[in-house]
Amino acid sequence: MLATISLTRTPESRLTEDLRENSPFGTNYSDHMFVADYADGKWQDPRIVPFGPMELSPATTALHYGQSLFEGFKAHRTADGRVALFRPMANHARLNRTAARLAMPEIPEEIFREGVLELIRVDKDWVPTRDGGSLYVRPVYFGTDDSLMVRPATRYRFVIITSPGGPYFAQPIRLLAEETYVRAFPGGTGDAKTAGNYGGGLLAAKLAQAKGYHNVMWLDGKDRRFIEESGVMNIMFNINGTAITPALSGTILPGVTRDSVLTLLRDLNIKLEERPISIDEVLAAHSNTTLLEAFGIGTAAIIAPIAAIGHHNKDHEIPTNSPTGLAHKLKHALTAIQTGQAPDTHNWLLYV
Ligand SMILES: *Cc1c(COP(=O)(O)O)cnc(C)c1O
Repeated sequence: MLATISLTRTPESRLTEDLRENSPFGTNYSDHMFVADYADGKWQDPRIVPFGPMELSPATTALHYGQSLFEGFKAHRTADGRVALFRPMANHARLNRTAARLAMPEIPEEIFREGVLELIRVDKDWVPTRDGGSLYVRPVYFGTDDSLMVRPATRYRFVIITSPGGPYFAQPIRLLAEETYVRAFPGGTGDAKTAGNYGGGLLAAKLAQAKGYHNVMWLDGKDRRFIEESGVMNIMFNINGTAITPALSGTILPGVTRDSVLTLLRDLNIKLEERPISIDEVLAAHSNTTLLEAFGIGTAAIIAPIAAIGHHNKDHEIPTNSPTGLAHKLKHALTAIQTGQAPDTHNWLLYV
């Protein structure tokens, strides 16, 4: 059994209506955070404390050798005035798969679930009330040995912070098909949500932005031929009414939103293919006008329409924002479930 979570409240809440309703994504944090430590082979001292800096040794394992991972999901206010988390235990399962890949101990289900639930209960007033707003929940987990020995740490820290965000109006994004850098390769960490994957992707994104794109479209690490992801989102194409997304091959991050979208497509009886899809196939569909839509899929934006793909110095423009398109339909359907406006037939909501 998990020891009870101790609670130290902040002496003074920082909450204002403006912070709660109008914060841009990931810029402000709620009053408290959940912390638990792993040492001597067991989890200890689960606690909720005021959000703030943590003291760490300059030799902390995570900083030197990258034993660090994170997760992300959201809490929404529901139609009946409650607060619900969207599929947090799917994130817990993925967290433990990433932890295993980085030789880190598993986080027991009850520490994760009770930590998240208790933290959201304490900071419930931080959940935005306006349409499209949500409280983003960010667990982060890292090795904390004070040692330069190259080996898995013996001590770890698990922290959960939350961040209020207004509606995320995903402007259509322009992507550059990336042919120099790769995000992932067979046998690597591409299917794990490691901090290092993000560090390794920043330069390509920065160079693409200098050329006027929002991000890169990652291609496979071997031949730069098959499409893998859209920046830090999964990717889907609508070719002639069939939804096509790259199959999870070991180099693609198994998104919870991707999985939810695939489930909704099956519910809606829309033709769906999970398979390798090459840049050549997509550009051929573009030139014969069967490429109807392309979009990124992930927690932050849910669906991010792709307005253009840059390839070999040419931009291929793609229609976006069709009110009858899949992107619109999927975003609407998922948002309705998250906010309790549509029946939760797959048991995706965990009420606080
Ligand atoms: C987190 C992430 C996603 C999206 O996952 P969700 O669980 O849907 O938020 C997609 N691709 C990469 C590379 C990611 O890190």
